[in-house]
Amino acid sequence: MTGSILGTTKVVGLIGNPVEHSLSPVIHNAAFRHLQLDYVYVPFPVHPDGLARAVRGLFQAGIAGLNVTVPYKERVLDCLDRVDHYAQVLGAVNTIVKEDGQLVGYNTDGPGFIRSLQAEGVDVRGKTVLVIGAGGAARAVAFALGQAGVREITFVNRTVERAQNLKREIDDIVQVEVLPLTPETLQKSLQSCQIVINTTTVGMYPHTDNTPVPGQLLQPRLTVVDLIYNPLETRLLRAAKRAGCNTVSGLGMLVYQGAASFELWTGKTAPVGVMTDAALAKLNR
Ligand code: NAP
Repeated sequence: MTGSILGTTKVVGLIGNPVEHSLSPVIHNAAFRHLQLDYVYVPFPVHPDGLARAVRGLFQAGIAGLNVTVPYKERVLDCLDRVDHYAQVLGAVNTIVKEDGQLVGYNTDGPGFIRSLQAEGVDVRGKTVLVIGAGGAARAVAFALGQAGVREITFVNRTVERAQNLKREIDDIVQVEVLPLTPETLQKSLQSCQIVINTTTVGMYPHTDNTPVPGQLLQPRLTVVDLIYNPLETRLLRAAKRAGCNTVSGLGMLVYQGAASFELWTGKTAPVGVMTDAALAKLNR
């Protein structure tokens, strides 16, 4: 955003429900200001009955691109003309672009996750990865890990059936094991993995005293990733640091998925440092 909204200003935005707490407006508007691009990013709380009308209407009104968040990432596929291969396989779209008059869906969550690990010097190729959780974030992360060449994924989840469904979806691209979430299964799988990723909501604000992994199970050879970014340092990451593990917070995934959307809409390289600083300033406020 250049400072004022003009007749020429391009609008991009976020559809979801709720959208009030999203950091995406802060991240994208900081990037637009930094690059002096005549764009503005606006959140739209869309009513569940009006999703298709909202998507079509926003593009008919000239919007230049959209992000999609909970609870519409799956449902929105029915509102689009085309969906890129990765988003189609995943069955979830978080970014919409108008290309040659057609609404095209992409998913930048998985690539954003892998870019955030690369930025921290974490190479997943050939590794055994423990994924705690089997929800939407776990799906995006697991598909991306499979494509990035991990050796094996173990899912531990409170609801085992959900993890088994996920296994069926991805076991043609990567070897998968499924276990219930118990201290015993965590202990066993932590012994054989190199990277552990929390994709559950356990430890997220306001329940910051919770952790999905008892701290005494963590060993210094592990890389511990928490997708949660509020708080920036979860109880899990604090314990992992104390145990001498390499740690990665969810902020990187948030910023890099946004950076990939930004690049799809503007064709410009996203100022990742500026976007990270903007998110940090908002989170620390
Ligand atoms: P979701 O689809 O609702 O999945 C939630 C997961 O957490 C499920 O596996 C669920 O287990 C588990 N869970 C919830 N409460 C639990 C508890 N008390 N004990 C054990 N397991 C529990 O949510 P999501 O969209 O995947 O999001 C998950 C987390 O990832 C959130 O914290 C979100 O902020 C974060 N996230 C971060 C980014 C980023 O950019 N950094 C992006 C996406 C998501 P059941 O299957 O048994 O219910």
